[in-house]
Amino acid sequence: MRRAAAVTLIAFSLCLAGTANAGSDILGMRLWHAPDKTRLVLDLSAVVGYRAFELQDPDRVVIDLEDATLRVAIPDSEKNGPLLQSIRFGQPRAGIQRVVLDLVVPVRFHSFVLPPSEPYGHRLVIDLFRRNRQASQTTMAAPATREADYLVVVDPGHGGEDPGAVGGKGTREKKVVLSIAQRLVKLINSDGRMRAELTRKGDYYVSLRGRIGIAMKRKADLFVSVHADAARRRNARGASVFVLSKKGASSEMGKWLAQRENAADLTGGIDIGEQEPFVQKAMLDMGLDWKVKESMELASRILDELKRAGSVHSERVERAGFVVLKSIDIPAVLVETGFITNRGEEKLLRTTLHQERVAGAVYRGLQHYCNGDPRCPRPASGQRTYVVRKGDSLSLIAARYGLTIGRLQRANSLNSTVLQVGQRLQIPDA
Ligand SMILES: [Zn+2]
Repeated sequence: MRRAAAVTLIAFSLCLAGTANAGSDILGMRLWHAPDKTRLVLDLSAVVGYRAFELQDPDRVVIDLEDATLRVAIPDSEKNGPLLQSIRFGQPRAGIQRVVLDLVVPVRFHSFVLPPSEPYGHRLVIDLFRRNRQASQTTMAAPATREADYLVVVDPGHGGEDPGAVGGKGTREKKVVLSIAQRLVKLINSDGRMRAELTRKGDYYVSLRGRIGIAMKRKADLFVSVHADAARRRNARGASVFVLSKKGASSEMGKWLAQRENAADLTGGIDIGEQEPFVQKAMLDMGLDWKVKESMELASRILDELKRAGSVHSERVERAGFVVLKSIDIPAVLVETGFITNRGEEKLLRTTLHQERVAGAVYRGLQHYCNGDPRCPRPASGQRTYVVRKGDSLSLIAARYGLTIGRLQRANSLNSTVLQVGQRLQIPDA
């Protein structure tokens, strides 16, 4: 009895202290789903003490936050994803806010706190990983090997908790670059010569090391990271292509940009459960000159095509110390597709037509590089044919292949712009 009374007293005094310090409010809750991981993020008004643990029968992860007040509704259960059955809240005792994650399957979990980083404040992150690695590997498995096995890993920057640059109209870099990257992968995979894979396929965050890891594990031949720029100067515009600098950035902009892009891991949340990169430092040093030279070659080819497709920010390939280009031992470039902070370009970057144009330019840059690389299969002889799909238009196809509508019409003796699904078009060289 005396013991119980004492416990009540302590709880009461904690509660009082909590009121005095205002404690912390849980202001928001977000869920992000990767193929084998779900990330739950709690927005907090201040840092809190917390304890996270697993319970079985049924499987669940419990997070107890000290002195926290719930100011958020439970997210729609439709957003729970493949690992989570439901989210519940409770107050096991005064001063403790409990969050219960009911699981569909057993998981491993990690939890950590993230400091404020625009646009977010203090956050508590809980990552749930599928326990059965075998199952997760099948979902991430590479498409069946084709005849062509020259692999390009295409890396859409940011994602999930990390929006990247944000435009005046609220356009998020993570969304635009995923769309451009998906179009680029489609183009590459359609030519039978190269093959492409994405580092992320949806709106979730992959750490910079994770992105490099995918390229290394898959033994990729080339690595292309796709981004959209931000500048304090609102009239800055045009695309740029970057390679890793051995010394420092080639321009002030490059320096600032590398800082911003490298900070992505802070915004997105470093994945502490992750393995070390697959790269050995000695191996990197050995191949660095070759890598820099080839990266430069690839970047120039892509920049040339971007110049033809629209405006570029700099006539030359830029250099900067991007983390994502650093620990990789294959030719690697980072393409900034335009300035999302420029009103006109923000608008353009949202359109299908412009996204196709940019993806097409990067694709042709890759083709030209491939032509000069003895490791790359030779192009199939003869003109290439394109079969019209639902949603295609003559302007879209022309943008994708870097042609004018007139050129495409002449090559196919077309008198109008009307296309039929299934129609075959000859694609002349750009
Ligand atoms: Zn970026």
